[in-house]
Amino acid sequence: MSEDAELTPPTAPSIRPADRPERRGRGTLDTLNRPLRDLRISVTDRCNFRCTYCMPKEVFGRDFQFLARTEILTFEELTRLARIFVAHGVGKIRITGGEPLLRHDLEKLIAMLAGIDGLKDLTLTTNGSLLKSKARALKRAGLQRVTVSLDSLDDDVFRAMNDVDFPVGRVLEGIEAAAEAGLGPVKVNMVVKKGVNDQSVLDMARYFREGGQTVRFIEYMDVGSSNGWRLDDVVPAAAIVRMINAEMPLEPVDPDYRGEVANRYRYVDGSGEIGVIASVTQPFCGDCTRARLSADGKLFTCLFATRGHDFRAPLRAGKTDEEIAELLRSIWGAREDRYSELRSAATTDLPKVEMSYIGG
Ligand code: SAM
Ligand code: SF4
Ligand code: SF4
Repeated sequence: MSEDAELTPPTAPSIRPADRPERRGRGTLDTLNRPLRDLRISVTDRCNFRCTYCMPKEVFGRDFQFLARTEILTFEELTRLARIFVAHGVGKIRITGGEPLLRHDLEKLIAMLAGIDGLKDLTLTTNGSLLKSKARALKRAGLQRVTVSLDSLDDDVFRAMNDVDFPVGRVLEGIEAAAEAGLGPVKVNMVVKKGVNDQSVLDMARYFREGGQTVRFIEYMDVGSSNGWRLDDVVPAAAIVRMINAEMPLEPVDPDYRGEVANRYRYVDGSGEIGVIASVTQPFCGDCTRARLSADGKLFTCLFATRGHDFRAPLRAGKTDEEIAELLRSIWGAREDRYSELRSAATTDLPKVEMSYIGG
């Protein structure tokens, strides 16, 4: 396939309140008729990397005040909240951070979450640095799959991007260990930044196609206020697809489910697939069914939200499950976020929350 038009993925139309029937089934709908389906839980705001696009050293240096231990939700608090969310329609939970594997005994939390009735999918996103030693315990605890972030196979480029001189080889060992432990198929996330690692796109596609993993190429986003984002730094997903298609022909794949974040393509020769996450150039707010819980118990109904809704105080004040559920219903019912769709219309920058705080 060579025509650009044919490479356009099947996209779902944007939802307006009036043009879609009420959905049936469990759960509250927001003001744009979107149900709550996915929850991303950040278990720590700390990280052992300083990726320049996420936690630049100049901001997250020695003096940076991370959350204190007592501010972070305990495993019991997280599990109680997760159970309430699942009862309100959440079927998928992704554990993230900061770097989630820095949280001590994370496998205990995984086991607690895996025991929640009605939860269908339990996954984790990690930078892979500690995966080799943790993969088996995570699998035993009930984790289903992992996504590993890796921005280049070129050691110099990768070490510069994680900014702590961490070598590619150890992340690759982590990916291998995860696959061996049964945490596959492993997905690999690559944030593409123009002039920094875009020359690694083809290498990544070739390497992981051989290994049978799916790479998801992510447009560099303007999350937080510390990464100095400029539109010029974004490599549009369409350009990434064109680049790969020129060497390894691709065809679009229908989404697995409504609200799937990545646009998927498969290699025409049947050797696997890739995904692109085009949150800047092709916003997908109309189908956004995700909420994010920060490590200190604030609920964010959008990755670009300016403020979160505190669940820790009610949890620690002894509120009942029903009272907490009511809080969740009122927050989700009032949700009207669609930041990415509005981004192009905005004239000024709004303060936003950091990705390492609420998780990607
Ligand atoms: N530390 C873990 C990791 O890196 O996989 C989990 C947390 S990290 C915030 C989750 C995902 O967000 C990673 O795949 C990361 O590459 C992505 N991410 C962080 N900052 C981003 C940005 N400015 N634009 C696009 N993706 C970003
Ligand atoms: Fe850490 Fe992940 Fe952010 Fe990189 S992207 S600094 S690994 S939280
Ligand atoms: Fe969802 Fe907000 Fe991203 Fe839109 S900008 S897709 S509402 S998280």
